[in-house]
Amino acid sequence: MSGKRPKAAGVLFKDENGDLHQAFLSDSRRSEIILSCGAIGTPQMLLLSGVGPRNELEEKKISAVAHNEFVGTGMADNPMNTIFVPFKKPVEQSLIQTVGITKMGVYIEASSGFGQSNDSIQCHHGIMSAEIGQLSTLPPKQRTPEAIQAYIKRKKDIPHEAFKGGFILEKIANPISTGQLRLINTNVEDNPSVTFNYFKHPRDLQRCVDGIRMATKMVQSEHFTNFTQCDKQTTDKILNISVSANVNLVPKHTNDTKSLEQFCKDTVITIWHYHGGCHVGKVVSRRDQKVLGVDRLRIVDGSVFDESPGTNPQATVMMMGRYMGLKILRDRLGKQLVFRG
Ligand SMILES: Cc1cc2nc3c(=O)[nH]c(=O)nc-3n(C[C@H](O)[C@H](O)[C@H](O)COP(=O)(O)OP(=O)(O)OC[C@H]3O[C@@H](n4cnc5c(N)ncnc54)[C@H](O)[C@@H]3O)c2cc1C
Repeated sequence: MSGKRPKAAGVLFKDENGDLHQAFLSDSRRSEIILSCGAIGTPQMLLLSGVGPRNELEEKKISAVAHNEFVGTGMADNPMNTIFVPFKKPVEQSLIQTVGITKMGVYIEASSGFGQSNDSIQCHHGIMSAEIGQLSTLPPKQRTPEAIQAYIKRKKDIPHEAFKGGFILEKIANPISTGQLRLINTNVEDNPSVTFNYFKHPRDLQRCVDGIRMATKMVQSEHFTNFTQCDKQTTDKILNISVSANVNLVPKHTNDTKSLEQFCKDTVITIWHYHGGCHVGKVVSRRDQKVLGVDRLRIVDGSVFDESPGTNPQATVMMMGRYMGLKILRDRLGKQLVFRG
């Protein structure tokens, strides 16, 4: 970036062999860079390029190209909590098929699958449990085949019931709690530090409590008790299985099964729906998602979202991509482009 009003000049990138390349924009009015590195990658790229809070950039000895206090702020992730539901006998494996959308903004989903053998770790639910369980406590780069095998061998540490049956999960739509993204260093290949502050806002916590209450009520309904090992007396047991399945690195508390608030805080996990960090109106313009204060730079990805749907966000991200693609074409071609569908 150079000149009085900064403008994007090009990109520095590595190819698949790890060789570094530079690519520069031409002088054409149409030339621009579109950043699509996602909710974590895009704010990180802006900060590394000198667009962000001046003091944070100076701290990392990055020369500030454009001061913007909002880059990396408003990071949010829809928190998810699960309760494991042990079944009396094997049930058909099933992915999440239905979503219960409650009036309180809690989304309820279920997944099951025990297969026919006792070694259900091989089955869908086992794998899901493994993924959201111990493996989620391992940094992605350490999830080697050997680490996964070692986990399977250690699975007896986890209550066996956790692998029998399925689980009910509840997610919070549009969490009010937000956090921030900060650079740890100036190496683009290192992850930045990200904080989502799950349940910092009491309303988010209350919604989780309501969701877990609803989920345990469902498990205690007759429809479920015909199949499950649960009855009204075993809520503690269900919660206890979920707590001891050790789904995250958060320290556990002795009152996890007594206080649903504590249960929510201690068993929260991500379902990878993080968003924000480059909000519309704060980091990019409302009209065309161009980075404010910088020319020839636009963002099209989940980092611009204020909120993410309670269900799966990919369709919304793709819709935005299509919308922006058509908008860019229309701006370039004027009225020649007709929108259909
Ligand atoms: C494990 C997992 C499961 C998911 N399951 C679902 C699901 O079932 N349904 C659903 O709707 N959503 C799902 N999601 C969420 C969904 O994938 C995201 O919401 C969506 O992909 C976000 O789109 P994006 O364009 O913002 O970012 P991304 O899709 O993350 O795209 C960002 C891209 O930028 C690249 N990148 C980042 N930094 C750099 C860099 N410095 N240099 C070069 N490239 C870079 C990344 O490799 C990535 O390819 C899942 C997410 C995860 C992680």
